[in-house]
Amino acid sequence: MNNLNDLKGKVCVITGGGGVIGSSLAAGLAEAGIVTVILDINEVAAVKVAEMVSAETGTASYGIKADVLNKASLEAVAEEIREKAGQIDLLINGAGGNSPKATTALEEITEEDLENLENSFFGLELEGFQRVFDLNFTGTLLPTMVFSREMVKRQKGVILNISSMNAYKPLTKIPAYSAAKASINNFTEWLAVHFAKAGVRVNAIAPGFFLTNQNRFLLTEETSGELTPRGKKIIANTPMGTFGEPEDITGTALFLLSDMSHFITGICIPVDGGYSAFGGV
Ligand code: NAD
Repeated sequence: MNNLNDLKGKVCVITGGGGVIGSSLAAGLAEAGIVTVILDINEVAAVKVAEMVSAETGTASYGIKADVLNKASLEAVAEEIREKAGQIDLLINGAGGNSPKATTALEEITEEDLENLENSFFGLELEGFQRVFDLNFTGTLLPTMVFSREMVKRQKGVILNISSMNAYKPLTKIPAYSAAKASINNFTEWLAVHFAKAGVRVNAIAPGFFLTNQNRFLLTEETSGELTPRGKKIIANTPMGTFGEPEDITGTALFLLSDMSHFITGICIPVDGGYSAFGGV
């Protein structure tokens, strides 16, 4: 198998499909003939992406409201998908993100900060950690439980999780997101082993740095569009010297979803312009 033809007509569920990376993946998958089901807690975004994808590619796409943290609602959605699109062949767990409540203002504690530690680790709220772990870890676990059961019964299917650079080395300020994404890599390996003889492959993609709504104003100045100090650090540590474009993820996703990668399971591929390969010097 040295082409993507096996993907034509397959049905792929994309959670968080209304977002920047999810919608770009949906468009790329549809171009390869994959029927996409865009699930998002933001129903307007899900429907809009599905309409755009089917209009631009001529491949069917369905936008459905779903909460990746509510198993009963996912089960109801699974039924709706079967009726509208047919059996689910592929799953991309794309819903994820960080929370300001789990983000420190300080990168590190210095002697000057000792009188007021509120901007450090000690000012974080448990609620923020819980939210970030729920969205990234439980939000991958539950859709996988619901949507992969039939893949296992049919002995065929592929699951693709979305990790992050933080899974390898945590970025300053975002401890919950970093740990939650590390758990995605670990879970990807665990499930890959568990499903290996059941014919279902489980892999992940770790995107490098992409400008999206969540991080745009952390990485670029709101008014001038210039890089912030954090944005400059990221670019300095990305050997290719730019942020990624969401479309950069499509090729790796198609490869991992197709039979071209039929002997690959339990890995995470960085799509990062060399960020994870660079030691910083
Ligand atoms: P995004 O915010 O544009 O998209 C995330 C989508 O998930 C949103 O549409 C949101 O409505 C949806 N969502 C949130 N909670 C949900 C829930 N409970 N149920 C269903 N949907 C829900 O973010 P993005 O940048 O496109 O990120 C997509 C994935 O890529 C995330 O897992 C993110 O952690 C990961 N990622 C992003 C970057 C980056 O630079 N943007 C880098 C590495 C990894």
